[in-house]
Amino acid sequence: MFIDLSAIHDTHTGMTRATLEAIPQNLASVRARIKAAALQANRNPASVRLLAVSKGWPAEVITTAYEAGQMGFGENYLQEALPKLGALKHQPGLIWHFIGALQANKTRQVAEHFDWVHTVDRERIAQRLSDQRPVTLPPLNVCIEVRLGDEPGKSGVMPEALAALVQYITGLPQLRLRGLMCIPPPTAEVAAQRSGFRRLRELFDALNHQGHRLDTLSMGMSGDFEAAILEGSTMVRIGTAIFGTRPHKDL
Ligand SMILES: *Cc1c(COP(=O)(O)O)cnc(C)c1O
Repeated sequence: MFIDLSAIHDTHTGMTRATLEAIPQNLASVRARIKAAALQANRNPASVRLLAVSKGWPAEVITTAYEAGQMGFGENYLQEALPKLGALKHQPGLIWHFIGALQANKTRQVAEHFDWVHTVDRERIAQRLSDQRPVTLPPLNVCIEVRLGDEPGKSGVMPEALAALVQYITGLPQLRLRGLMCIPPPTAEVAAQRSGFRRLRELFDALNHQGHRLDTLSMGMSGDFEAAILEGSTMVRIGTAIFGTRPHKDL
């Protein structure tokens, strides 16, 4: 069951008790849907990881999901994320994923504070992330964002340029290339959802056949994650279905 939190969102305090109380139930429902989709695809449900996208929500919301067993969180905006990462830095086991558009002037703080970046789409960004990743930390896990057809915005490497970027990143000492990511244009049509995800999976399989060892296909959001799992997603990035409609629509 999906509970829309927007109706009970209190604009003054930012949160109500009811908002927080819905999170464990929403998480359980999303986990059950992930499992069902994996089984439908004859896949091991444990092969699909859940990333909770917490952009737009305060640290308290993240803590509530964490207490319900959620470890991986995705953030899109560095300025919004850093105070939350700071507030939660003593919670063991939290894994932070940067999933937003990444400008060159933001790479240092991302390299210093996050465990993963899903949106690497050019050499300059990759090189800066590797150079700026502190040597005291393990290499930064990265996915390459691929632009499939007429995706909104201008981010993502074109499929024709993917092989060269993979080669480049593989040579960077402080990055560990984990896989590919995409954000297809939203559509309610499952067949259309699946064809975009299938394209990314084919690119992923081709790279692995060439000898790369990619283990992550970051694809699927609240509106299309089941289609993504049917096409091989190993990491779904879900915000709304866990936390409700974000308080600020533009996030
Ligand atoms: C916001 C966002 C999500 C989560 O979207 P929902 O529809 O709220 O699940 C996933 N991935 C990226 C890159 C996002 O920006």
